[in-house]
Formats: sequence, C-alpha cells, structure tokens
Amino acid sequence: MLKIEYDFNLKNHNTFHVDFLCKKFIEINQREDIDDLIPFLPTDKNMLYVLGEGANTLFTGRFNGTILHSNLKGIHVKKQENDRVHIQVNSGEIWNDFVLFCVQNQYYGVENLILIPGSVGAAPVQNIGAYGVEVGDFIGSVEYLDLADFSIRKIGNIDCQFKYRDSIFKGSLSGKILILNVTFVLSTKPSFNASYKPVQAALDNENNLIPSIQDMSRIISSIRRSKLPDPSLLGNAGSFFKNPIISNSHFLKLHERFPEIIAFDSDGKMMKISAAWLIDQCNLKGFSIGGAKVYEKQPLVIVNYGSATCNDITDLSQYIQKKVFEKFGVLLESEVIFL
Ligand SMILES: Cc1cc2nc3c(=O)[nH]c(=O)nc-3n(C[C@H](O)[C@H](O)[C@H](O)COP(=O)(O)OP(=O)(O)OC[C@H]3O[C@@H](n4cnc5c(N)ncnc54)[C@H](O)[C@@H]3O)c2cc1C
Repeated sequence: MLKIEYDFNLKNHNTFHVDFLCKKFIEINQREDIDDLIPFLPTDKNMLYVLGEGANTLFTGRFNGTILHSNLKGIHVKKQENDRVHIQVNSGEIWNDFVLFCVQNQYYGVENLILIPGSVGAAPVQNIGAYGVEVGDFIGSVEYLDLADFSIRKIGNIDCQFKYRDSIFKGSLSGKILILNVTFVLSTKPSFNASYKPVQAALDNENNLIPSIQDMSRIISSIRRSKLPDPSLLGNAGSFFKNPIISNSHFLKLHERFPEIIAFDSDGKMMKISAAWLIDQCNLKGFSIGGAKVYEKQPLVIVNYGSATCNDITDLSQYIQKKVFEKFGVLLESEVIFL
C-alpha cells in the first residue's frame, strides 16, 4: 500500500542525520502501488526527488516538493546457466543485505562492495565502486518507471553508460525515473579482485593463496571499518568528493611541484588523482565549521559530530573546495548530491 506523509522529517532517511522537512513523502511498498501513485505526483518535476536511503544526498533546506521513496523488497534468482547467475533485486532492498546474500550463496562479483550504505535502486545511479570493483561491471539490466508517461522500461548494461561514479541515471535520466529493480549477472565460479594493495597485503599477511568469498568480504569489511566512520554512530555520506580526473599535462605540472602527489590509473590522456591527498595537504584533517568536521582518519569524509546543520556541511565543503583550488588549481567535484 502507498504510504503518504505531509511535512515529514527525513532525519532517519539521511546518513548525515540532519533534520530536514519535506512537504510530501510518498513510499511505494509493492508494484501495484504504481497506479495509485500517479495522481499524487507533482506535474513540475523540479518539485520531485527520488530518495533511497539518503547515504549520498545532502539536504540543504526545507524541500517544498515531494520525496518519492521505493520500499520494494525482494531478491529473486532468475536463471543460472554455465558459470553465470542472473539475480533480479528490487530497488528498496538494502545494498549490503544483497551483498550478504551473494556471499552466503557464493555468487562472486560484488563482495568488494560490502558495507556500502544505501539501497539497491541507487547503486547503478552513481555506479558505486570500491576496492577495484564497480557495480556497473555486474549489472545486466535496470527496469524503471518513466515518471513522464508512467511507462515501465528496461535498459541493458551498455545503455546505462556506466563511468566512474556516473551513469545515464545521473545524466539524461536524472530526476525523470524511479528504478524498480536491477538484474545482476554474477559468477558461480570463484573469481576475486585483489588489485587494491591493502587487500593483497592482508591476504599475503594471512598466507592466504586461495581465499574464499567469506575471506574476501571479511578482509574488505575490516579495511572499511578501519577507515570510514559508521554512519549509525557518526553521521556522514562517505566520500564527499570525487577523485578529480585531470589531463596528463596538468598532472605533470603538478607532479613537478608536488612529486609525492598520489595518482591512480591513467588512460594515457587523463589521470585520476587522490582527492584525500589534496585535502590532507591543505592541513584540513579535523578542521570544523559548526558541527561539521573533516574526519581525522579520512579527509575525504565530512562528519556530523553532533549538531551539524545542513549549512555547516555545505559551508565546510565549499571551504575545502576553495583551499584545494587555491593550492593546486584543481576543482573538487562533489560526489554527494545537494538537494
Ligand atoms: C559511510 C559511507 C561509505 C560510503 N562508501 C561508498 C563507497 O565505497 N563507494 C561508493 O560508490 N559510494 C559510497 N558511499 C555513497 C553511498 O553509499 C552510495 O552512493 C549509495 O549508492 C547511496 O544509496 P542511497 O540509497 O542512500 O542513495 P540516495 O542518497 O538516497 O540517492 C542517491 C541518488 O540516487 C537516486 N536514487 C536513489 N534511489 C533511486 C531509485 N530507486 N530510482 C532512481 N533514482 C534513485 C537519487 O535520486 C540520488 O540521485 C558511501 C556512503 C557512506 C555514508
């Protein structure tokens, strides 16, 4: 049944745990709710925001529009052939519950993405990634409700246009659709990604040459917990900024001035550099504005250490961007979506 609330506080629907009121909150709990939903949606699409668990959204003031939230549950193994399993997961499932399901059933592919907060419906939106793995590599198709004509459509992997923290859902389809379910294609044969150095170091340390999927998820969980604050204890939205991608020539100039700069993969023309390193070089670890603070253990994370307002978090993020730009001439782009 459709749930509708007015002047609803979304404090429990955002991992910063800030108070935030919206005019109308609509939750769909079963597929049949879609027909009932239509008359309640605003005609002006700027007055509509689709919210998952709010782990990547920063509210910046009262929202005078409608928040649409999927609480569609269900994980269904659709087919298994050769070494592949196709699993359709409804958008309201918690992402980590799905990863735990895969670990338990030995379906390989997404174990490096364990403990990422949020919903399954949001996972393709920013193509969530961690420890050398991006979810887009394991998505077969995405089914969504088109909020303009209320048709239900399905698009395949290529059409999702997955890139680093990006997809068509963040681009041309942004704000226009509600993802209903995602079909993942995983392997039933052991295959792991240990390309991230600390993961390989942990395996070496254990003398673990043939890790199980449980070993991989345990190691990744432990690395994550040592670096990232648990949002249930300390409000945050994970990495606040994307790692900037700059031209090789820009990188070489920076490298001349800062030989210790941390950079990742390059495609020959562009180079991805560490946003955490840039922020750290500006001595911003522990810096705070109001109740918002740059996390000491990982400067890419802004935390609410008690009573941060939306303004505190916004001001701090802008201050970080300013300092990094002044020192390096690099503009940090926010990974978190401002509403
Ligand atoms: C502690 C912490 C660690 C994190 N670590 C990582 C990490 O390692 N890697 C990473 O990639 N991210 C990470 N994140 C960010 C976050 O977990 C992901 O972006 C996650 O996918 C957000 O899910 P959500 O449901 O909370 O999305 P929301 O914040 O609710 O929404 C995010 C975007 O998705 C859209 N959306 C949500 N649901 C739907 C739907 N059903 N249909 C259409 N659009 C929808 C929203 O409109 C919005 O544009 C981290 C966050 C935290 C708090």
